[in-house]
Amino acid sequence: MLARLGAAPAADGRLLGHFPYAEVDPAQLVSIAPGQQLQQDAAKALLAMQSGARDDGIDLVVLSAFRSQAVQNRLFFEIKSERNQTARERARVSAPPGYSEHGTGYAVDLGDGAAPGSNLSTAFDQTAAFAWLQANAARYQFVLSFPRGNSQGVNYEPWHWRYEGTAQALRVFEPAQRLSQ
Ligand SMILES: [Zn+2]
Repeated sequence: MLARLGAAPAADGRLLGHFPYAEVDPAQLVSIAPGQQLQQDAAKALLAMQSGARDDGIDLVVLSAFRSQAVQNRLFFEIKSERNQTARERARVSAPPGYSEHGTGYAVDLGDGAAPGSNLSTAFDQTAAFAWLQANAARYQFVLSFPRGNSQGVNYEPWHWRYEGTAQALRVFEPAQRLSQ
């Protein structure tokens, strides 16, 4: 696979900016929406966060949660091919399989039910849902993974949030955390 990517991991294990992540044990996954699953601690926190948002009139919609390496493989290589992108170009917007936070079961892409046109777009940061997340997500142990100008060199993703509410989750994201300091 590394030969296909045309790049070797960096000394800190990163590949094209993305850290390696082991896939969550499927037994740890629970459903949070039709066709969407998260690791059970993250799922509980996400449902509480959606409920809190709803109380404030915000419709937090789950656009993507756990993604298997097979799905990530398709997202990376097939779309890369369709769009005639180099691996480096593709990696700015999507992680290579085995290097996606979505594989951990702790990461989720969120949208604003009142503004579906902003789904998976930087325009999401102009929505009421994003303003609500900025003010409240930490209360539910969620953090924005790829802020503007992040040290991983991944494009700004205002919709992508990860759960860091257990020691296990914190440990998974420790390398990314350390790099961003
Ligand atoms: Zn994402």
